[in-house]
Amino acid sequence: MFNALVMDQNEEGLASASIKELSVADLPDAEVTVAVEYSTVNYKDGLCLSAKGGGLVRKYPHVPGIDFAGTVEESSDDRYKPGDKVVLTGWRVGEAHWGGYSQKARVKADWLVPLPEGISAQQAMAVGTAGFTSMLSVMALEDHGLTPGNGPVLVTGAAGGVGSVAVAILANLGYEVAGVTGRPESGDYLKSLGATQIVAREDLNETVKRPLESETWSGCVDAVGGEMLARVLGQMKYGASVAAVGLAGGAALPATVIPFLLRGVNLLGIDSVMQPYENRLRAWERIARDLPMDKLEAMVKPATLTDLPGLGADILKGQVQGRVVVDVN
Ligand code: NDP
Repeated sequence: MFNALVMDQNEEGLASASIKELSVADLPDAEVTVAVEYSTVNYKDGLCLSAKGGGLVRKYPHVPGIDFAGTVEESSDDRYKPGDKVVLTGWRVGEAHWGGYSQKARVKADWLVPLPEGISAQQAMAVGTAGFTSMLSVMALEDHGLTPGNGPVLVTGAAGGVGSVAVAILANLGYEVAGVTGRPESGDYLKSLGATQIVAREDLNETVKRPLESETWSGCVDAVGGEMLARVLGQMKYGASVAAVGLAGGAALPATVIPFLLRGVNLLGIDSVMQPYENRLRAWERIARDLPMDKLEAMVKPATLTDLPGLGADILKGQVQGRVVVDVN
C-alpha cells in the first residue's frame, strides 16, 4: 500500500483532491513501476488540480503530477531494471495518465529518461518540466544563432518556474539577462539568479501601437504570450529569435507580421511534452552542465502532498516564485 493524491469528481462534475491509500494493483497497466521520490508543481499541474481539470484531465479518479523522479522498482522492459534512477516529464502523464503525486507510479518505458549523472532526484524535480522547457528554449535560440555579446536576452514571466531557470541558465552561459516581472519584490531574487536588468510587467503588457520599436533584445524566452509577446516581437534586434513557451498572460497573439518581414525576427515554438527521446537526453545533459546547482537550490520551495491543492491554486494566480519540490514520502 502507498499514498497518492487522488482527484475525485462530485455529482456536479467538480473534482477535488484528497490523500488516499492505494495498492499497486490500482495503478494503470504499463511496463515500469517507479518508487517516486519527488515531484513538482508546474502551471499545468495547477490546471490539473483545479475543479474542472483545466480541460486536460479526462477521467476520474485521477492522480495528477506531470513530473516525477525516483527509482525503478519493477520493469518488464529491458531498458530498465530495479534500482535504476529515472526522471519523467511530459507525454501527458498527470493529465491523461496517472502521474507523480503518488509514492508509486506505473508508466511506459518509452516515457522515462535515466537520471543524468550528477543530478539527484530532488534536483531533477527542482528542474521539472519548467526547467527542462527553459533548456529546450535556450537550445532553440542557440540553434538560431544566439551567442553572448550581442545585447540582452529577455525572459518574460521571469520569477516563475520557466523564467527562473531560463535566467539562471542564460546568465551562466555568459548572456546579459533582462527579466520581466509583475512582482517588483522579485527584483533581488532575479538578480541573485544572474539577471542584470529588471523590466516592469506594465512596461510591456500594453497593446501594440507601433509594430516596430527600437531594437533591444538579442533573444527572448517568453513564458507569457498574449500582448506581452506581441510587444516583444517589435523590440527584437534584426534576425533575433523568440522562443514561445507559455501563455501565462494569454493565448491570443495580437501582433502584426511586420517584425518578421522587416527585421527577419523568428518565432520558435517550444513543446516539452512530445519531445523525442534523443532531444530529451541532450537537454538533460545540457541541464547537468549549464544550470548551476547552487542557483537551482536558491529557487526551490519544499512541499509535501498535503500542500498541493493550495500550491495548484497559487501557481494559476502567478503567485509561486521559482520552483516547488514535492517530497511525496
Ligand atoms: P509559473 O506560474 O511558475 O510562471 C509564470 C509567470 O508568468 C508568473 O510567475 C509571472 O511571473 C508571469 N505571469 C503570470 N500571469 C501573468 C500575466 N497575466 N501577465 C504577465 N505575466 C504573467 O508557471 P511556469 O513557469 O510553470 O509556466 C509558465 C508558462 O509556460 C505557462 O503558461 C505554462 O503552461 C507554459 N509551459 C509550457 C511548456 C511547453 O512545453 N511549451 C512547458 C512548461 C510550461 P512574474 O511574477 O515574474 O511576472
